[in-house]
Amino acid sequence: MPFGRPGGHVINLLGLDAAGLAALFANLGEKPFRGKQVSHWVHQRLVGDVEAMTDLSRALRAKLAAVAAVRGPVVVSDTTAADGTRKWLLDVGAGNAVEMVYIPEDDRGTLCISSQAGCALDCAFCSTGKQGFSRNLTTAEIVGQLWHANRALLADGISAPWVDQGRAPITNVVLMGMGEPLANYDSVVSALGTFLDDNAYGLSRRRVTLSTSGLVPAIDRLREACPVALAISLHAGNDPLRDRLVPINRKYPLAQLLAACLRYLDRAPRDFVTFEYVMLDGVNDTTDHAHELAALVRDIPCKFNLIPWNPFPGAAFRTSPRARILAFQKVLMDRGFVTTVRKTRGDDIDAACGQLAGRVQDRTKRHIRMRVAAAATTAH
Ligand code: SF4
Repeated sequence: MPFGRPGGHVINLLGLDAAGLAALFANLGEKPFRGKQVSHWVHQRLVGDVEAMTDLSRALRAKLAAVAAVRGPVVVSDTTAADGTRKWLLDVGAGNAVEMVYIPEDDRGTLCISSQAGCALDCAFCSTGKQGFSRNLTTAEIVGQLWHANRALLADGISAPWVDQGRAPITNVVLMGMGEPLANYDSVVSALGTFLDDNAYGLSRRRVTLSTSGLVPAIDRLREACPVALAISLHAGNDPLRDRLVPINRKYPLAQLLAACLRYLDRAPRDFVTFEYVMLDGVNDTTDHAHELAALVRDIPCKFNLIPWNPFPGAAFRTSPRARILAFQKVLMDRGFVTTVRKTRGDDIDAACGQLAGRVQDRTKRHIRMRVAAAATTAH
């Protein structure tokens, strides 16, 4: 059975946020604080079995186990690259798989997670989009990624300064894997609640980043509901080009998107928005494009993350030459924008977003309708 999908009447505890746990125990005729106790067991002690929750009475454990369980992901593959980047491919049923990637750095451990199996938004350069949309992940499937990564890293004896200080292996979460998170709004916001909950993972809003292609009404909703750090997949500095690369732009053009970014910054945990910009040879990567981009966002507190595009079989794009990426970066930095170039991580395991799942699905011929105009990279 795919992870997170309750079998019969069994509730997956990974899918219940604080309110959900409180409701569960109310239904069982128990005090609400039991929810916090169980949250500690599941998300902090990372147990996978109700029987292990030893500060619940035996009778209560039996009562809970009759209706609920902890169901983590089914791992299809688990690969670690030479640079320590680790990638898991997770079965979500019906032949679909999603991926998550752990990226270790000196002072943090970041997990890039998925929010949908496939994606309907069909960005021209993205392999996930070319696979089409299968379904939204449930809250349990989204939270289960963080739960599993922490467990797996601890089980393997991860060595990191923050772990030695008693913190969990994963210190930062980015929703930049497969799917458009804001197209799966309710499940994503519920999962964010668990990520931030002090009785669960206790991450600060600054350490959780949601990346969106620009669903403007949902950005406004998120600002009210759970304003975590915001990243925007921008990729173009004018509407005609962005219409082509990121088709959702036809519905929410740049002026609307940038206005939403400004509104979001009122509540955001950081005082800037991150703009992601995939570098496509001869498409969006000239210094003229950089000047246009700088002018477009001149009134928005922001940083840029330039992403060298990752080639993919059948792709219609090429990666920008390194010199052109650096020239593009220089224009933005000379105009006062902090601009980083994303390091390529885990090359030997296809850790760039979308790649591994795309490859598996190619092999199984489940996504023959792929209209390969392009390929992998910054799937949100
Ligand atoms: S870049 Fe993001 S929104 Fe666009 S198709 Fe890929 S996963 Fe979907």
